[in-house]
Amino acid sequence: MPTAVSNVPTAVSTVPKATVALADGRALTYFGAIPKRPADFPDRRQLPATGVQSEARWDSLLSEWVVIASHRQDRTFQPAADACPLCPSSAGSLTEIPAPEYEVVVFENRFPTLATTAPPAQSDAACSDDARSDDGRAGQPGLLASRPGAGRCEVICFSQDHSASFAGLNADQAATVVAAWVDRSVELARLPGVEQVYCFENRGAEIGATLSHPHGQIYAYPSITPRTDRMLAACASYRRGTGRSLFDDLLAAEQAAGSRIVLTGSHWTAFVPFAARWPYEVHLYPHRRVPDLAALSPAATAEFCELYPYLLRRFDRLFDAPAPYVSAWHQAPVRHRDGDFALHLELFTVRRAPGKLKYLAGTESGMGAFANDITPEAAASRLRAMRE
Ligand SMILES: [Zn+2]
Repeated sequence: MPTAVSNVPTAVSTVPKATVALADGRALTYFGAIPKRPADFPDRRQLPATGVQSEARWDSLLSEWVVIASHRQDRTFQPAADACPLCPSSAGSLTEIPAPEYEVVVFENRFPTLATTAPPAQSDAACSDDARSDDGRAGQPGLLASRPGAGRCEVICFSQDHSASFAGLNADQAATVVAAWVDRSVELARLPGVEQVYCFENRGAEIGATLSHPHGQIYAYPSITPRTDRMLAACASYRRGTGRSLFDDLLAAEQAAGSRIVLTGSHWTAFVPFAARWPYEVHLYPHRRVPDLAALSPAATAEFCELYPYLLRRFDRLFDAPAPYVSAWHQAPVRHRDGDFALHLELFTVRRAPGKLKYLAGTESGMGAFANDITPEAAASRLRAMRE
């Protein structure tokens, strides 16, 4: 693959972008001015091919797809810091990133859950795309239906600094990450068969992150995910009943109530949702409803880059230790950009007290019915008090 150099027009600025090929053919893209000449740093590793055997199987009882990705059992798990595959390469250590320094980098996951090259799955009742209705929502495939786990999984490194965290990024660094999120969301949405793009971060071993280097992931799904499907249905039902947007009215209701607001800017409001599932859970909504990251205004993007790291630092201060968290961008599915679905971020930690984690036990795992030991109003009050 030739090195492609271009600029990503973002809301904040123009961020340089250069794409190279890794030794096994996967694409890697540098975002930002470093390295200056990516082509000078070819991937010198001998990489054996990884067999990707992803399969999506239909759960008839819950009407949703489950991905079976057995090849991922071999992936790297909590390596020593000097063997981190996400640090820049050096003379003695060749990593996933060939250059000796970088700002933000995105590459295809070597052990993807979903892959465009997934082999056809064996199934008792073959399933094809006609199992989905025209709007991309799940229909009713056969009882034992399966299909290839098609899609794409990418890794995004937020910083070359192994010990950094998103909470510690300055606004310029965060803006480069946002530029990469926007670029990948737009590019992946163009791939054939992609219905939804999801940018997220699993932070901390407690949450299941297998690498401690500051990084997130970007999934391109071949179907709309179960939670998004339910949100779309809720939006449609609310629109039919009231003629209004559910997301607009939810934000207005939280702003009017006030008791669960954590912080407010000119363009964003962060609040603990009324029916929070997790001990500390915050939703971040832009004041002007947009479908996805690419549609954010320059001013909203700039404020996000200040406000979001600040919010993460409050999470870290809750128990005076790095908070294990999941940060999830909800973007409108590819074919629902014109509807009511609104871009928002959902952030939660599984830590409920020093040294104590909330586990998904009987009621949550068995029944999908969440029970939260901390009132959302108390959680919001504590988060408001965590000033720097
Ligand atoms: Zn590292």
